Parts: sequence; structure tokens; C-alpha cells
Amino acid sequence: MIEENVKKLLKEIPEVNPFGEKVTLVAAVKLQTADNVNCAICGGVSDIGDNHVQEFRENYAKINGNPRRHFIGHLQTNKIKYLLGKVDLYHSVDRYNLAEELSRRGATAGLKSNILIQINIGNEETKGGFSIEEAENAYKKISAMPALNVEGLMAMLPFCDDEARLRRLAKAMREKFDELNGKGASLKYLSMGMSGDWRLCIEEGSNMIRLGTAIFGERKYNK
Ligand SMILES: *Cc1c(COP(=O)(O)O)cnc(C)c1O
Repeated sequence: MIEENVKKLLKEIPEVNPFGEKVTLVAAVKLQTADNVNCAICGGVSDIGDNHVQEFRENYAKINGNPRRHFIGHLQTNKIKYLLGKVDLYHSVDRYNLAEELSRRGATAGLKSNILIQINIGNEETKGGFSIEEAENAYKKISAMPALNVEGLMAMLPFCDDEARLRRLAKAMREKFDELNGKGASLKYLSMGMSGDWRLCIEEGSNMIRLGTAIFGERKYNK
């Protein structure tokens, strides 16, 4: 089932967004067994994203096929040590002290980390991230940190049925992404879109989507 879901999605996800950019599918693997993740990889998934450090560590060696590793969940600074050097892209850099600590520890270990700056596009109290107004300042400060490469922006749209509002927010993210690139940044990734809203996000200019439910089915939170 998982393999078929992935194959269908890879066909369905447009090859490019309206900006002519390839769209990367990241499988959001929280609460999935290593077997399930490996099924997704058999189906063609090349990128996987973890939310929980504990799960990442437990499953790390059980994952086949050497996919690109993303960390997409909230990250506590005291857990960075478990991820450093193993994660290809951190999506959820949502505050300055996390960026500072990632850079500091990376510098000590002699490696640079690739990161996205998380924007709280819906201004939601329950979500982390910089406000869209703070994005440029955050980009300037974080890209000046020695052991970080800022590769783009990440956002989670609010859960709501107001499609016009969701499109407005997604569009605002793309505009900020383009604005920063217009001012000399070289951002590659706009990570935006989950199972409920990925089509809309690609239509508005996302080039990286993070799908869990659409690949694995409903998550079982009681295991
Ligand atoms: C769980 C999660 C996803 C995937 O959510 P689905 O709705 O199951 O596709 C994407 N991004 C983040 C940050 C997540 O935590």
C-alpha cells in the first residue's frame, strides 16, 4: 500500500512548480516503523524527514537505500549532538538560540549544517518560527553564523478550510523567498505543504513538500 501511494504521488506531484523548479517529496516518517519507511523508499522516496530525535536514532541504521535525511520537527538544543553530521537539511530552525547552538557545535565538529529558516506564517501561538516581518533580519543574522548554510525557508500553513486564506499565506511565503533572493540570498528550497494542502502549496510556489498521511495513512498515536 505504502509503495503504491508513493508511486501515485510521484506521478501526481507536478514535475515542476509554476516557477520551473523541481519539487522534492520528503516523506514525513514520524511514528512509522523502519519497515514502513523502507517501503516508501522502495516506492521511490529519496528524502525522509524525522520529527523526533529518539525515533531518528532508533531507526537510523535500519533505513535502506541511503536517502537524504531531513529533520523537520521542533529541535531542543540539548539534542543537537545526536543529529550533527547525520542530517542533510534541518527544516525547523525557528529561533536564534537554536541557530547559534547548531553553528557553535558544528564549528567545533568541523562541519557546516544546511538549514531552512522556519516562518510562522499563520502567526499561530502553537507553532514556532519567525514572523514573516522578521524573516529578512533572521536571514541576515543566521546566514552570518559561521557553520550554517541557509538554503531556504520552511512554513506550515494553519489547519483551516479557508482556501483563499491558505493561498494568500502560501503566496506570501513565496514572495518573501523571491524577495530575499532578489536581495542577494541564494535560497534553493521553499519547504511548504503537507498531506492536506500540498497541491495548493506547489501551485503557489513551494518546491519541497513534506508528506506523512498521504504516504503512510493515518498515524497511530497510541502505539
Ligand atoms: C507530520 C508532519 C508533516 C506531515 O504531515 P501530514 O499531514 O501527515 O502529511 C509535515 N511536516 C511536519 C513538520 C510534520 O510534523
